[in-house]
Amino acid sequence: MLFKTGIVKDERYLRHETAVFHPESPKRLESIYKMLDDSEMNEKFLFIEPTHATHEDIGRVHKQSYIEFVAKTAGKEHSYLDPDTETSPESYDAAKLAAGGLCNAIDSVVKGETGNAFAFVRPPGHHAEADRAAGFCIFNNIAIGALHAIKKYKMERILIVDWDLHHGNGTQHSFYEDPRVLYFSTHQYPFYPGSGSVNEIGRGEGLGYTINVPLRIGPGDAEFLKIFRTILEPVAADYKPDLVLLSAGFDIYYNDPLGGMTVTPPGFAKLMRVLLDIADECCDGKLVVTLEGGYDLTGLTQSTKEVLKEMRGDTHVSKADLDNIEGNADNYIDEIIKTVITQIKPLWQVFR
Ligand SMILES: [Zn+2]
Repeated sequence: MLFKTGIVKDERYLRHETAVFHPESPKRLESIYKMLDDSEMNEKFLFIEPTHATHEDIGRVHKQSYIEFVAKTAGKEHSYLDPDTETSPESYDAAKLAAGGLCNAIDSVVKGETGNAFAFVRPPGHHAEADRAAGFCIFNNIAIGALHAIKKYKMERILIVDWDLHHGNGTQHSFYEDPRVLYFSTHQYPFYPGSGSVNEIGRGEGLGYTINVPLRIGPGDAEFLKIFRTILEPVAADYKPDLVLLSAGFDIYYNDPLGGMTVTPPGFAKLMRVLLDIADECCDGKLVVTLEGGYDLTGLTQSTKEVLKEMRGDTHVSKADLDNIEGNADNYIDEIIKTVITQIKPLWQVFR
């Protein structure tokens, strides 16, 4: 393998335009793409050419009537899909390319062309529901990606981690009764979109395969690390995913205009190392990341850079740093961890 890490990057993602002061602007990817060209990052990644998601891929998650509704916005100057989510003439094209780009990244990793990959796409996806757009999201890229992997590669277990500031309601709902996908989310709560309480743990065959860690304002590097190490890591070791997917929202960055979390760029690298270790242990390192939120351009660029360096192995968070979870984290996080574990304990042997 020539390149450890693949990236999806395409100018067409910039053509999904939003109103002048909308936080989810093309400037987000522009600043990341510029960072990818700097001397430290240049020529270090395999560029994965994105293709449009097929109708079949999108249709596994979204209703036909909704796909047609979005398709009708193509070429139109301006439409609103929901109060927060608008389209420009090329938004439908970008949305198909966002879901497709993530599927291409998954293909690249599963086929062994790259060890892991990051899809720098927009619009983001995790709020999009089967029949509607929501919260800047048009198609649910990560849900489409997970079902693509299940269908194409006969995968049986996929772990989706979602560290975005907001709860990924669309992703949760896509797999709420489906044990083939374990959805793990940390998010500010109560907050947009309203879902993601600790007692939402799946239903029917999917019972126990949704894990929500709702957080009040404040958590930073130490608190997130402790949550990942004490809840996610044991569950993942037990679940043994065939593939790890990440909804990477950088709106938990300490200076993000939308949120109240306090994660720093080195903190993101630590969380990434936990996920890389899980992937190494369970599925030969197969980890694919998709961009969700993150609205402070400096924070977004610095944090994605630290994450990419960790994915490539340019940096490697030490075991001592990962193990140092006692003492650093604020005590109130222990209460939340205890509450989550109490909820899922009957369903996960590892906590009994
Ligand atoms: Zn978000």
